[in-house]
Amino acid sequence: MKQWKKTTCNDRIRQLLDRLQGSGRIFLFLDYDGTLVPIAPTPDQAVPSMKTLRLLENLCLQENLRVAVVSGRPLGELEALLPVPGLILVGVHGAEVKIPTSHGFCLRGALMTSQHGEFPQNKEICFRGLALLAQGAKELLSGRRGFLLEEKGHALALHYRLASPPEAIEVLNGFQDLWQEVIQDHHLEVIFGKKVVEIRPQGINKKLAVEALWPSWPGSVAVYIGDDTTDEDGFQAVVGRGMGVLVAEEERPTAARFRLKDPADVIELLQEMEAIT
Ligand SMILES: [Mg+2]
Repeated sequence: MKQWKKTTCNDRIRQLLDRLQGSGRIFLFLDYDGTLVPIAPTPDQAVPSMKTLRLLENLCLQENLRVAVVSGRPLGELEALLPVPGLILVGVHGAEVKIPTSHGFCLRGALMTSQHGEFPQNKEICFRGLALLAQGAKELLSGRRGFLLEEKGHALALHYRLASPPEAIEVLNGFQDLWQEVIQDHHLEVIFGKKVVEIRPQGINKKLAVEALWPSWPGSVAVYIGDDTTDEDGFQAVVGRGMGVLVAEEERPTAARFRLKDPADVIELLQEMEAIT
């Protein structure tokens, strides 16, 4: 492998590049919001720049790299946001996947996060629970502003970034009363992210998504980069065997061994990786 440029990078990036130096194959797993693009007031405002798209395109062309975006967003949204040939896309924390093949077509849609390639829970029961919660949440949010209910098929997310803090607490308390009645019987679980609370089927998470994809490229070093609670599952998948990279302004308890400050740091790291071929 060629030498990294490393002329102008900051210490955080240099430390990562030093560790990657000499790795033959690298399987790069990237979260989307808050990692590849800055967090925006609403999800539809978080779009990648042309520069980022071109960078991903070039990375996907490199022989020693395989790149996957692993996000909580639905696969369809990821496809629209990231029209990049060769890029693997994982939606709804692993419930949906799109894998480009070398013959120019894609494997799309199959869930692959259980050990046997099957949905880990009874799908119909999960969906019934999600529908109940969606209906309850809509009633709770009626007439209120600053909230966004996202029905993702395999999951349900309630965003409250633009809500006033007192109203957010009120709504979250009401939503908690709802989910406490529903989740256990419907094999669902609750996860808290950045100004979002999400309900998803138990057993669907980024750890299983990474574990399902990583063996498809034997001998590769996995690098998982992410910023939020759900990415801790991704870090767990590579702990001791690959490299977890938390994207955060400040230190915090994490399973990741490395830290980058913000999406701008991530882009700079990717540019260095692009420069090696
Ligand atoms: Mg994120």
